[in-house]
Amino acid sequence: MVSRVIPVDEFDLVIFGGTGDLARRKILPGLFRRYCAGQMPPNARIIGAARSDYDDAGYRDLIRLAVAEFDADSAKDTAKLDGFLAQLSYVTVDARGTQGWDTLATLVRPDVVKAFYFSVGPGLFGDLAERLHLHEIADSASRIVVEKPFGRDLDSAKALNADLAAHFDETQIYRIDHYLGKETVQNLMAVRFGNVLFEPLWNSQYIDHIQITVAETVGVGGRGGYYDKSGAMRDMVQNHLMQLLCLIAMEPPNKFGPDAVRDEKLKVIRALEAVQAHHIVRGQYGPLADEQGYREDVENARSFTESFIAMKLHIANWRWAGTPFYLRTGKRLKAQSSEIAVVFKPAPHSIFDDETDTENNPKRNVLIIKLQPNEGMTLDVTIKEPGQGGMRLINVPLDMTFAEALGEGAQAPDAYERLIMDVIRGNQTLFMRGDEVEAAWGWTDPIIEGWQARSDVPKTYDSGSAGPEDALMLMHRDNRRWMEIKP
Ligand code: NAP
Repeated sequence: MVSRVIPVDEFDLVIFGGTGDLARRKILPGLFRRYCAGQMPPNARIIGAARSDYDDAGYRDLIRLAVAEFDADSAKDTAKLDGFLAQLSYVTVDARGTQGWDTLATLVRPDVVKAFYFSVGPGLFGDLAERLHLHEIADSASRIVVEKPFGRDLDSAKALNADLAAHFDETQIYRIDHYLGKETVQNLMAVRFGNVLFEPLWNSQYIDHIQITVAETVGVGGRGGYYDKSGAMRDMVQNHLMQLLCLIAMEPPNKFGPDAVRDEKLKVIRALEAVQAHHIVRGQYGPLADEQGYREDVENARSFTESFIAMKLHIANWRWAGTPFYLRTGKRLKAQSSEIAVVFKPAPHSIFDDETDTENNPKRNVLIIKLQPNEGMTLDVTIKEPGQGGMRLINVPLDMTFAEALGEGAQAPDAYERLIMDVIRGNQTLFMRGDEVEAAWGWTDPIIEGWQARSDVPKTYDSGSAGPEDALMLMHRDNRRWMEIKP
């Protein structure tokens, strides 16, 4: 199946932080793949901007190496890579100073779509916005893209929003959450609102509970300093898990448009009940064999920051009253796996006298939406066990793994490249609005303040496990079980 390609006009994309990790690892290799897919008009221009001293040739060399390192397969097509690099240039700019701004002003073209990607720390967002305005580089049709973390609490998020709003209208601001760029996440909306099959059952009458898991096998790596001040709640729950929760729980928007979708997501966050302390489990990974534990990784022997969190939430509205949502995310867990499991209630009455496999009775339909690895969906349905006498029932998955279902060429664009092309096309649907981000922090803050007030200590869990024992108990107490964390 060939995906529909919407042509974009010529554009100028300026990447502030164009020499940084994110630009080299994700943004530029992603743009190269879009180039290879024919989505980069020949007169589009990409301008890297940072303080380091490069000329255009030096910058192209840097990006050639980056593409070779982070997307070796695509980089093999050297003719295409040369063509892509020819559209790149570089300007030395100091976000906090005066250097480079006049040059940048002469480089960007007045009559094309202009997008400015702020791939720098959030401390520079306000400086960049101000200087783009002062030097008349951005106009009212220009877009800015900002990266996470968007603040570390409600006050700082409000301050960032105010800094950006001083120079840009909300319709020009694209706050990236790369989870929203994942094909399966968008498919979640297609499945819910494009089929008649699911939506009538999508409520507390038929759904027992919903689980959202984002499990990583890696530890904090080289990000220890940042992570220890942040923790899983700020780094993952406030943004990625909250966005997934919104999409799975929201009411149908009247159309697939930026404000219609974001209005509905916002209502979900506002309907979240305050979480009771005993419905949250925090964890910190311990050492494993020759790998060090969290505290050694962050070089803080007295750290009480969580690298794991599990929680039970309730959404106080008609659709979800009585259906809990269980969220869990953590580092150094047994497998890398992000998925949403929608666990339906059992049939109201069983006509089968099925006494086998008592552990898995009564059987339930489970819809699993897998975000990574191997994006796809499975739906467990109950059937008769083939070849057996009598009526023995088993659950089998209807498997919709996308790569298999769609065949060769179904490789979905990476989340970043998809979102960047949405910026160029001016489509904000998959980006967070300012009020959404503030509402999410408004819900997160009291939880974190509660831990601080109680001097809450996270439970240690074994690296390579499914998290602390208490997280299992959170489910067991409700007579439920987490899905196994598996790739
Ligand atoms: P990084 O590797 O430290 O890069 C920062 C970039 O900013 C560099 O290009 C640096 O270049 C430039 N810079 C710093 N100060 C500057 C100034 N005063 N004026 C102009 N440029 C300046 O950081 P990163 O990992 O790429 O992250 C960038 C942003 O993305 C951060 O907000 C981060 O939280 C976010 N993010 C990153 C990732 C990731 O995977 N890396 C994932 C999610 C979000 P010079 O030193 O040459 O100026």
